[in-house]
Amino acid sequence: MNIISKNYIVSALVGMTCVAAVSQLQAGQPDPRYRIHDWERPQPEQIDPGFVGNNERTGKAPADAVVLFDGANLDNWVAMDGAPTKWVVKEGVMECVPGSGMIRSLQCFGDCQLHVEWAEPENISGSSQGRGNSGVFLGGGRYEIQVLDNYNNRTYADGYAGAIYAQYPPEVNPIRKPGEWNTYDIVYIAPRFDKEGNVTSPARITLFFNGVLVQWDRELTGPTNWLSRDPYQAHDYKQPIAFQDHGNPVKFRNVWVREMGCKDKVFKYSNKYLDGLTGIYKGAQTWEIYRDGESLYLSWPNNRSKVWKMTAESPTHFVTERTAFSFDFDDFNDQGIPQTVYWNMEGNHNKLTRQKPAEKK
Ligand code: MG
Repeated sequence: MNIISKNYIVSALVGMTCVAAVSQLQAGQPDPRYRIHDWERPQPEQIDPGFVGNNERTGKAPADAVVLFDGANLDNWVAMDGAPTKWVVKEGVMECVPGSGMIRSLQCFGDCQLHVEWAEPENISGSSQGRGNSGVFLGGGRYEIQVLDNYNNRTYADGYAGAIYAQYPPEVNPIRKPGEWNTYDIVYIAPRFDKEGNVTSPARITLFFNGVLVQWDRELTGPTNWLSRDPYQAHDYKQPIAFQDHGNPVKFRNVWVREMGCKDKVFKYSNKYLDGLTGIYKGAQTWEIYRDGESLYLSWPNNRSKVWKMTAESPTHFVTERTAFSFDFDDFNDQGIPQTVYWNMEGNHNKLTRQKPAEKK
């Protein structure tokens, strides 16, 4: 066999290997050759990201963006249960206080473009997953894009900065030095579920890391859990964005979101706050407002033949699903309990007075 035909066969074989790998990846599943957190999985190569998305960014968001953090305060952020967060703002930068727990946005988002800047502590401590670990979560804390100090720090491939944790390593590792600012520009397509709670369309993520494309239209298998690959659990389309407390004082700045498609405002408040809004309200109509899980529902006292889910557009303004009702809570007492709700329908604002707490289910 001459050299030319030998080379032809070798390149054809290499091509076949690539085609096999590509078809696996195009199928949208994590590479089946590797186990979760597999140290044998090839490490993303550390590269210099160049000047794209550099550190001189002004922090100015696009005009149509929802700005979640502009350096001023944490008004748009709470702990995961809706209580005030213990994270701090120092010199225009949001910082994780180790041990204080994760932080989430009050506003919820479905399909969106998310911009986040983050920096690792300059004082390096720990190694592998213990060095500068945090995370940017979509879907209300379910789907993590890893944040980690991988500047000259090896770890398992599916746990690198820019990994869709436990599922997809980033294509490369364009991280900057500790103390310098990194950027994530994320395209998130929320999963869809049918009425039975089956996933009909999985979550998808594309990620530019310091301007470098490292994840392209990845199809998530479900939540990005440590050590396990768990199935989807149905959830509302719009969910908060969250950052992880993994015990390291990682910094964040310039956080903004551009919503794609449905731009209805949805906020998620604590169960304790929602409980304060529940009750039986009487006027032109008598309504019962009660909480089930993380949402308020509207129905009639002693007759739940029809039930409407209520969505918060602000702390006091709620709309009902499918039906053109809205409700404005008012006259809050010293305990933060509203004594009045205005039931808005067909341009009428019907004043209803709180009678008593909602019946226990
Ligand atoms: Mg993490």
